[in-house]
Amino acid sequence: MLSVNDWMNRAAIAIEAESDHLTQLDSAIGDGDHGINMMRGMRAVTAALADGDPDALPGQRLILAGKTLVSTVGGASGPLWGSALRHGGRALGDTPELDGPALVEVLTAALTAVQDLGAAEPGDKTMVDALAPALAALRDGIDAGDTVEAALVAAAEAAEEGARATTPMQARKGRASYLGERSVGHQDPGATSTALIVRALGAAFAPPG
Ligand code: ADP
Ligand code: MG
Repeated sequence: MLSVNDWMNRAAIAIEAESDHLTQLDSAIGDGDHGINMMRGMRAVTAALADGDPDALPGQRLILAGKTLVSTVGGASGPLWGSALRHGGRALGDTPELDGPALVEVLTAALTAVQDLGAAEPGDKTMVDALAPALAALRDGIDAGDTVEAALVAAAEAAEEGARATTPMQARKGRASYLGERSVGHQDPGATSTALIVRALGAAFAPPG
């Protein structure tokens, strides 16, 4: 069964391992702080969750994670991922268990929150280009009656594919958009870290034997 703490712990480890790469990507089309931003934020999230109420429901844990990201990350990614998790948590309400349909609800609310706040559409070279295909793949898998494990693997692959597909795009939102055509030819850092977070979700759902 999936625990929010396990998801966030795995996401933090993955982001920490890739933090130099994320910073490199952000140095090419931003200000080079994305690895540090996400690492600082995810460390604070795992610490907050570890100190939090052991009886908290998944929704409450996601809300705590989101608030922690907003308050610890200065860059665009903090408020964006922060509201994604907060809204994902709120959408869950008192749901006791993160099963397939609940995960679809979480990611749906997360994507809506990111787009409400940042106004990015698919194709703008942002985290939306990883999150939107991940949600679509997860929803399609669950609707088709696939196992949650399989649907989450498909979601992670879609997020990674979506992140890779940002390379030829020209950024239309965020700091990278200031570069205009010079943003073409680099993978978006936020889409890249988003794929790591989605991959961590799948790993947390079905921990390797
Ligand atoms: P900053 O750009 O403030 O330095 P980060 O480097 O932490 O913040 O995050 C940059 C990432 O945030 C980008 O790669 C992009 O994926 C994402 N991003 C920036 N602006 C938006 C937006 N308006 N909507 C969605 N994602 C965005
Ligand atoms: Mg940056």
